[in-house]
Formats: sequence, structure tokens, C-alpha cells
Amino acid sequence: MFPNERRSELIEAAFAAKKQTYSPYSSFPVGAALLTAEGTIVKGANIENASYGGTICAERTAIVKAVSEGSRHFIGLAVVTNVPSSISPCGMCRQVLREFCANDMPILLIPGDYPRPLKETEKPENGYTEGGVRETNLAELLPDSFGPEQLELPRNAGV
Ligand SMILES: [Zn+2]
Repeated sequence: MFPNERRSELIEAAFAAKKQTYSPYSSFPVGAALLTAEGTIVKGANIENASYGGTICAERTAIVKAVSEGSRHFIGLAVVTNVPSSISPCGMCRQVLREFCANDMPILLIPGDYPRPLKETEKPENGYTEGGVRETNLAELLPDSFGPEQLELPRNAGV
């Protein structure tokens, strides 16, 4: 379970990160905040590009910032958009997170209108918690995934 005293701080950081979005093409601001094992919070926003393929998501911005500053272990991630429901990381971000985050690391998906009561469709058994937050992890978001340990497996010689 996510440490409660850092939970609200991480959520606030995700909202703060979203303010730094550069998303003139999609008009879909996203903020992410990553809690490192050292206890620091690293923020990221989505940064788009006129050459669309150069766009980077908020989650990958946060993880690239953190890793390039020397953090390799993470305790939690919060992601927020302007949509009034929880929005999941894209497939590419899930794979990038898989490189550095444990399968059971809490990922908090924050509705844009946080905090609010749960909607009728948001059941606690589906991970919905206080404020409309959906708590999930990589085991749920990226099941049967490929990660660094697969590259350590013995292989046949030759081509
Ligand atoms: Zn993404």
C-alpha cells in the first residue's frame, strides 16, 4: 500500500507538473510525478513537437529526468490529465516504466477533477480509492511483460 504521507504530496506534484506541459497540438496536458527510493519527487510533463514523433509523454519525461540524475529505484508514480476520470499511461510508457519499476509499484491515476467522490462505475475492487484515484501497477497495466531479466536468459549459440 502506498505510504499515505507521501500520497497527497505526489498527487500535488503531478498537478504542478501538468502546468509545465507543452501540448499545443493535442491540447491534452499530462503531468507525472515519480517518487524515488531516495525520497525525492521528480516531475514530468508531456512535451510535444511539430514533428509529432518527437513528442515525449509526461511519464517518460519524469523517468528520463530521474534516471539521468542518478535515481534507478522508484516507490510510486502519479499521473494526471484534465479528463475527469483516471487515464492510463500509453503502451510505450508502460514499457519504459517496466525497465526501472517493480511490477507491484503503486501507480496512482488521478482524475483531473480530484478530489471528488467515487462515481458509480468506480468500484474499490477495481482499484478506485479516495478522491477518485485509481491505484494500479505494472502487473495490471503490462501483464506478461518483457523486461531486463529476459535478456539475461541463456540463449542458443549461432544466428
Ligand atoms: Zn506515454
